[in-house]
Amino acid sequence: MKKKNENIDIKKSSFKGNRGLLVVLGAGESGVGTAILGKQKGYEVFVSDQGIIAEKYKKVLLNNDILFEEGKHTESKILDADVVMKSPGIPEEAPLVKQLKSKGIPVISEIEFASKYTNAVIVGITGSNGKTTTTMLVNHILKKAKLHVGMGGNIGKSFAQQVAENRFDIQVLELSSFQLDGIVDFAPHIAIITNITPDHLDRYDYKFENYIHSKFRITENQTENDFLIYDYDDAVISDWLKNNKTKATLLPFSIEKELEQGVYLKNENIIIKYKTEETLMNISTLALKGKHNLKNAMGASMSTSLLNVRNVTIRESLEDFEGAEHRLEMVLKINGVQYINDSKATNVNATFYALGCVKAPIVWIVGGVDKGNDYLDLMPMVREKVKAIICLGLDNQKIIQTFSNVVDLIVETAGAEEAVKVAYKIAEKGDSVLLSPACASFDLFENYEDRGNKFKEAVRAL
Ligand code: ADP
Repeated sequence: MKKKNENIDIKKSSFKGNRGLLVVLGAGESGVGTAILGKQKGYEVFVSDQGIIAEKYKKVLLNNDILFEEGKHTESKILDADVVMKSPGIPEEAPLVKQLKSKGIPVISEIEFASKYTNAVIVGITGSNGKTTTTMLVNHILKKAKLHVGMGGNIGKSFAQQVAENRFDIQVLELSSFQLDGIVDFAPHIAIITNITPDHLDRYDYKFENYIHSKFRITENQTENDFLIYDYDDAVISDWLKNNKTKATLLPFSIEKELEQGVYLKNENIIIKYKTEETLMNISTLALKGKHNLKNAMGASMSTSLLNVRNVTIRESLEDFEGAEHRLEMVLKINGVQYINDSKATNVNATFYALGCVKAPIVWIVGGVDKGNDYLDLMPMVREKVKAIICLGLDNQKIIQTFSNVVDLIVETAGAEEAVKVAYKIAEKGDSVLLSPACASFDLFENYEDRGNKFKEAVRAL
């Protein structure tokens, strides 16, 4: 396994200054984590947030004697930085970011910064959907194998803070494309790309190829000793690999084809083939249902097998894993109607899998902030399984236009409680009410968790 030298000189990745002024833009989870780590490593740290900083983060900054400002960006101070950590929520196109870059000041992500200061073996997981589930699965398996593992990135406590406070042997990181946009040398020993479908195109000039490029940066710095695990059945990934190079050993997984190397199915059994060929388990005993979760389980199995976890441990972990909240989460059955919270489905592909594995007839709650959606992919399933659509967003025109010919009943609502009440009226015994919005939540909710929680509260109040 690859080990890095500790405290590598940060100059290595062309950062101008060594332990000079670290400016952190954005005081959320990754920003505050970076500030703590930077301070610990001897940087002068300044945190700047154009919005209001949440109380819990303000407290941490104050407790750690870290200078910060909120409600503004003081350019004179920021442009003096030796290195800038940009939080993933701030677009590359933000004028301040452009200004920093034009001055040649390195603008990096938390992941790049924190990875300089750890010897942990890194498992990095990206993709359009399934990142959190796969990350949690990998973490669960490694924990059961009694390995000293930390889980972070886009999930839970920031990677940087974990590096500052723990000495994990293995770091499992959920990585968004925005985090990968800000890397220079970062290279996970094991990378997983769950799938690539259009998402966040508003941040990529509405060009899918830019987004694909971002995702593949996960393998950019990998060497011959590293591994890239990916969905063989995903045409976008296969095309990229045909036309581009990576040094990493390729270990695909497939639910459609027997592979020479990687993970595949034979008579409903999951087979892992790398150096040896072994039967891991029958798919019927997997805790998480649906084809998409089978794929997530395959990616997680391959990665943990590479880390020498025994098959029996992987199998047991996949059998007793409890799914993540807001991902096809069964809420309640009321009068024979199953209510399902899939609030995390913020793009069309996630909803595609939800509609695929939820029992028809479905009363489908959909809508919110559309990130450049093409709903046509969903058409066959909507035609077959959806009996009514409840729009939950401020602007529902696209949904109404797309589906008004195939679904007789379409109702517009502007809140979770209202949506659930309407669903309750429409649904009959045997139906499923599915919140799977295919959209971001920011028009009516704070975030997807807030949307999912309000949905669950409304269901429980019925
Ligand atoms: P991410 O962290 O990438 O957003 P999650 O695991 O949180 O992924 O799942 C997000 C949504 O995508 C959920 O609605 C979930 O049911 C669905 N999903 C999970 N895994 C996959 C997959 N491999 N392919 C497609 N959709 C998936």
